[in-house]
Amino acid sequence: MKELEKKQKIINYSRTFEKDKFSPIRSGNISIKHKRGNLEGFLISPSGKKNVELKTNDIVFVTMTGEAEKNKKPSSEWRFHLDLYKSCKCNAIVHAHSKFSVICSCLFKEIPSFHYMIALIEAKSIKVAKYALFGSKNLSKNILDAIKNSKSCLISNHGQITIGESIETAYELAEEVELLCEYYYRCKIYKEPKRISKKEMNMVLEKILKYKTN
Ligand code: 13P
Ligand code: ZN
Repeated sequence: MKELEKKQKIINYSRTFEKDKFSPIRSGNISIKHKRGNLEGFLISPSGKKNVELKTNDIVFVTMTGEAEKNKKPSSEWRFHLDLYKSCKCNAIVHAHSKFSVICSCLFKEIPSFHYMIALIEAKSIKVAKYALFGSKNLSKNILDAIKNSKSCLISNHGQITIGESIETAYELAEEVELLCEYYYRCKIYKEPKRISKKEMNMVLEKILKYKTN
């Protein structure tokens, strides 16, 4: 895919952040892996701009050694995007401050296997990365610990992250994670939800990976 096409996708999905206030105002960020000539890196949304106002020139190329294009300001979270590309197999990353992911990240240490669709993240629970300052090395480290062997985690007192083979799959998963967080939060208000056993979750994990047809 050409660089311009990828930039356009980042812009379109950043606009989608505003839809139903999924990740409101300037919150969240999106990146797509990219090779510029021989230079490996990724394209990422800029820092501190309104998600609905992004233009192609705002999108920043960051190399795999962490160097950003001159005179541009990449998302303050470029470091965890970089570290995720280095340590996980993925081509796109979505970080969102979606409402129920934020609420759950403030309340819980993990979202357990209370619903079978937790397996969409390819693990039996959604872990919550320990709190650290936004944009910090420590935050990136905590995220790598929490997301290990899965496709998503929450970030304590902050929001959620998903990774995917493409921006489409990463964004869809972010929507699924948001729904799961809402269900869990609503269950918890009423009482502790029933859990699905490890054995059952292993069966779900095997089946759910073959579930999506397009
Ligand atoms: P940026 O605008 O720098 O991407 O910050 C938004 C955010 O969500 C920080 O965690
Ligand atoms: Zn954030």
